[in-house]
Amino acid sequence: MAYDRSNIFARILRGEVPCKRVHEDDYALAFHDINPLAPLHVLVIPKGEYVSIDDFTATASAEAIAGFFRAVGETARRLGVVESGYRVLANTGAHGHQEVPHFHVHLFAGAALGPMLK
Ligand code: 5GP
Repeated sequence: MAYDRSNIFARILRGEVPCKRVHEDDYALAFHDINPLAPLHVLVIPKGEYVSIDDFTATASAEAIAGFFRAVGETARRLGVVESGYRVLANTGAHGHQEVPHFHVHLFAGAALGPMLK
């Protein structure tokens, strides 16, 4: 699947659409989801153009991959949820119900989240 530069996360990265930022570095941007599904619901996205986790891990540099996953951990620390715990999820493709075609992980926290899938 080709990367679509008009997707909403590309627009957020370009500063065309505002976001409530939690963390940003050279590799990633973390911001609150506009439609939270948990008391804390944050999205972490790489700064490069990747559609999915398989695209990202196949085509990004080792530095970009390490930087992205470090940013996920930093986001959890900044949210103060390391002790209480949290969940990281990457919806992928049609069966994964991915709505935005820019690779992202959801970080859910702030309450006991229950079983993984209902
Ligand atoms: P997906 O289903 O692709 O894994 O999740 C996309 C997520 O992006 C959804 O949880 C949705 O609420 C969130 N989202 C969509 N548009 C925006 C937006 O403009 N700003 C923010 N902060 N989140 C968005």
